[in-house]
Amino acid sequence: METEKKQIALSLIQPSGTITLGNYLGAIRNWVKMQDEFDCVFALADLHTITVRQEPPKMRKNILDAYASILACGIDVEKTLFFIQSHVPTHAELAWILNCYTQFGELSRMTQFKDKSVKHSDNINAGLFTYPSLMAADILLYQADYVPVGADQMQHLELTRDIANRFNGLYPNVFKVPKAYIPKTGARVMSLQDPSKKMSKSDENANGCVHLLDPPEVIMKKFKRAVTDSGSCVRYEEGKDGINNLIDIYGAVTGLSREQIERDFDGKGYGDFKTAVGEAVVEALRPIKAEYERLIADKAYLEGCYKKADEIALRISTRTLNKAKKKIGFI
Ligand code: AMP
Repeated sequence: METEKKQIALSLIQPSGTITLGNYLGAIRNWVKMQDEFDCVFALADLHTITVRQEPPKMRKNILDAYASILACGIDVEKTLFFIQSHVPTHAELAWILNCYTQFGELSRMTQFKDKSVKHSDNINAGLFTYPSLMAADILLYQADYVPVGADQMQHLELTRDIANRFNGLYPNVFKVPKAYIPKTGARVMSLQDPSKKMSKSDENANGCVHLLDPPEVIMKKFKRAVTDSGSCVRYEEGKDGINNLIDIYGAVTGLSREQIERDFDGKGYGDFKTAVGEAVVEALRPIKAEYERLIADKAYLEGCYKKADEIALRISTRTLNKAKKKIGFI
């Protein structure tokens, strides 16, 4: 990180599968832009992934792939801290402490807990329930000023703020109370097969989700099969979720406005447009994929990057953890 004091922005992403086009356009691309404006703290939230059962070899691969993919997107380890959560034990320790300052009722109201309990009804473990306390620890350990959030994560950030305020009320000046950072540009990418739902790696229909590392022909196939509405004009209209999603994806990767896109495709049909969106996405992802291939072939380099970041993260977070423990009364 640079010596000039900037505000701290913090964000974590779960390496629970491959990185999706939604993760990239909705989150990681903004992280890349934020690196100049903020002192950024980013991490792979691998401890969070085990609230759902993982297969060990697949989990190892997912973590390293996610680390390499995110670097390939443009995270610069010279100016940004990018570490692996499970390598920094202060997270789990502060999470335990914060659990004791978080109410059962608050955790019960989390919509993500309710959703995941339905989806994984055979394994509603305590970790799934107390997940927000770990998330609060992730954020509060680094005295973050800002947390970039999508609408889906607002509730968790609100709870983090409540926990921080409660803790500071009992023991003053321990945690900075973070604010939400709403990026100026941040596409919400919907499923290509069910555009009323967000694009997600857990989409039951594999064609609904584009992965950063999908080969070009797979990306083209997914866009050509994208579900669109009745009609054929490339026009952004209320209720036409399918075409609206494709227009927004095209706009996000080309930088063109909705109006410009409508003008460019005036008189052309959905088929032409789907091909154009697919090609634009393939082109946008091409350099990322190439950089990923280069990085994943150099495991020693990747290990060097995260080990250095893990150490710095431990040093910074230990300061906050020790302060909290001292105030509580631990000797
Ligand atoms: P997740 O994959 O749910 O752990 O999300 C990691 C980050 O990517 C969060 O900041 C999400 O808001 C963002 N994200 C995930 N899916 C999408 C999507 N379909 N569109 C936009 N942002 C997304």
